[in-house]
Amino acid sequence: MECIVVGGGIIGMLSARELARAGCRVRILERGPLGGESSWAGGGILSPLYPWRLPEPVTALAAWGQHQYPELARDLVSDTGIDPEWERSGLLVLDTDEADAAMEWATRQRVALELIEDSVRIAALEPACRPVERALWLPDVAQIRNPRLIRALRADLERRGVMLHERTAVTSILQRDGRIDGVRTERDTLCADIVIVAAGAWSGRVLNSLAIHVDIGPVRGQMLLYRAEPGLLLRILLAAGHYAIPRRDGRILVGSTVENAGFEKVTTADARAELRHAAESLAPRLAGCEIEHHWSGLRPGSASEIPYIGAVPEIPGLFINTGHFRNGLLLAPASARLMADLVLGRASELDAAQYALHG
Ligand SMILES: Cc1cc2nc3c(=O)[nH]c(=O)nc-3n(C[C@H](O)[C@H](O)[C@H](O)COP(=O)(O)OP(=O)(O)OC[C@H]3O[C@@H](n4cnc5c(N)ncnc54)[C@H](O)[C@@H]3O)c2cc1C
Repeated sequence: MECIVVGGGIIGMLSARELARAGCRVRILERGPLGGESSWAGGGILSPLYPWRLPEPVTALAAWGQHQYPELARDLVSDTGIDPEWERSGLLVLDTDEADAAMEWATRQRVALELIEDSVRIAALEPACRPVERALWLPDVAQIRNPRLIRALRADLERRGVMLHERTAVTSILQRDGRIDGVRTERDTLCADIVIVAAGAWSGRVLNSLAIHVDIGPVRGQMLLYRAEPGLLLRILLAAGHYAIPRRDGRILVGSTVENAGFEKVTTADARAELRHAAESLAPRLAGCEIEHHWSGLRPGSASEIPYIGAVPEIPGLFINTGHFRNGLLLAPASARLMADLVLGRASELDAAQYALHG
């Protein structure tokens, strides 16, 4: 079976990997460099920020992804030599006004979560944290270094014979005799049995050529990168929607803004000030650290926060996998597996109806 994946972010790359593993001939058409958009810009926390707030279909994908990531990271290291730095850092949530909801959710989902009401214990867990009396502690929350994950996946896809067409924008999707026939790019026409739209925030634009409407739009997020000594921060810290993530080499990411600013992928002085303030309030020692980088990315947002994964009604051969909003790195393994199950007509461990696009 010939498959074309439109969009080479984490969702497109992992979807392609699943299909290639099942024996399909796969090509990815990516407008820029692979993984150069939201999938590069993200923080790589492998948990929703306040998981108890999310709808059940997102929780189901998240739980699957959390379970799969250690093995995916191990396989990528051994097959490509590139380490995506999966790390169980743990997450300390400093807002505790939702402790009851959080504890109830954790019990139901069988997730390790503890309300710590002991400032000395919190300081021992994370010496760089601002002094707090109460915090929620999720010891199993992990992170992945997403730019390295993309590099490793790229090498893995090449190894598996997936054809990677970078700097190749899809301009329209083609139908013949009532089913998918392929795509047109700025240079060529390429035929395929299956086309999967995984173009992130731009997915709606790609589907426009078929007059199909999906409520996916860009939600800008800005991030700061601090240069710090390894060990300055040990845990992922979260308060008031802002977080700090320690990388192995000492760098610390602080994010993120949530802005409806269309497709304007720019950084702003206001966001820099907001993120600096958040950083210093989470971990006061960051005030003395250099800011190495400031960037923005466009998340694929949807009104329900539930991604669309499945067939596009009435166009046999056309599928979408998009709308992962703030959690696409986490949700990618499950979304890719479900996508491949649907394309190949396999039974799935995930309930596809929850992610279906309705006509
Ligand atoms: C600041 C920030 C922080 C985040 N933090 C986290 C986090 O900690 N954990 C987490 O799980 N998620 C996080 N996310 C969300 C996550 O990054 C996204 O949900 C995920 O990357 C979406 O992946 P994607 O492949 O759908 O989109 P993208 O990575 O945006 O990929 C879509 C690709 O499609 C390509 N494309 C578009 N149009 C065309 C076309 N016409 N032809 C060909 N190619 C096209 C684009 O160039 C792009 O590369 C964060 C996002 C941001 C911005």
